[in-house]
Amino acid sequence: MAELHKHTYQLASRAHQQEDTLIAVGDQLIGGDHFTLIAGPCAVEHEKQMHQIASMLHLHGVRFLRGGAYKPRTSPYRFQGMGLDGLKLMRDVANTYQMYVVTELMDFSLLDEVYAHADIIQVGARNMKNYHLLKQLGGIDKPVLLKRGMDATIEEWLLAAEYILLGGNEKVILCERGIRTFDTSVRNTFDIAAIPLVKSLSHLPVIADPSQGTGNRNLVTATSLAAVAAGANGLMIEVHNDPEMALSDGPQSLYPEQFNAMMGQLRAQVKLSGKIIPDRQKLRNASQEKLTIS
Ligand code: PEP
Ligand code: MN
Repeated sequence: MAELHKHTYQLASRAHQQEDTLIAVGDQLIGGDHFTLIAGPCAVEHEKQMHQIASMLHLHGVRFLRGGAYKPRTSPYRFQGMGLDGLKLMRDVANTYQMYVVTELMDFSLLDEVYAHADIIQVGARNMKNYHLLKQLGGIDKPVLLKRGMDATIEEWLLAAEYILLGGNEKVILCERGIRTFDTSVRNTFDIAAIPLVKSLSHLPVIADPSQGTGNRNLVTATSLAAVAAGANGLMIEVHNDPEMALSDGPQSLYPEQFNAMMGQLRAQVKLSGKIIPDRQKLRNASQEKLTIS
């Protein structure tokens, strides 16, 4: 019992639960030996964009489609997201390619909308300390992907997870997305050490987001491979059919060719790490069957 009180967080700690938490989303498992790849554009922009990106991801066996319909933008003059139309579009496209939807909930007033269209609800870095929102998410039955705040210590991040767990929602996925440091040569400083550290402290799955983590598409492959080597349970990657025209985070979005090239290296690295990644060929065959039947 004394062990339980060693940390300020309890339910999130390895002392509370030694085995890795496994989270089921449809036919997929997140955590433990399972490697989860979440990819897609920063923001949902239009139908053609979503179809082009999702069809490419589908060919690689990617099962989780990301995209923001409500975007937390630094400038109020920049694209704020498609809103409900974006959620509907994303759901339709994801269904077409047998994918699950990961999208951000910015405000509790939007919960019903987001809940109805998402399979995993993302809490952004800017909201990691929105304790009211975290408490509300403790009361739902869908997985929450909790980004690390850009100024959050590991302990603050795990305490944020604790808020959700304490409400009764055990499906929390942590996401390292870089922190603000003195160095302006990168958008954020991607904290690789946080991955093995948090995995030793907590039983929750830890995925990494090298896209927000670096802000530079040319750094994404290297940092993705490093995150896998560090023990990440998955990755969240921004990729766009036409990054030059992207309405949000273009400079950190991979070109389709870059994504294709990265996938080969990633599969090899995931195998080395001893984790399981959905088989591209098997999935393509299975889904092609489904697509022709329907
Ligand atoms: C995003 O995933 O596009 C995003 C806004 O992430 P973060 O909250 O980590 O900045
Ligand atoms: Mn983004």
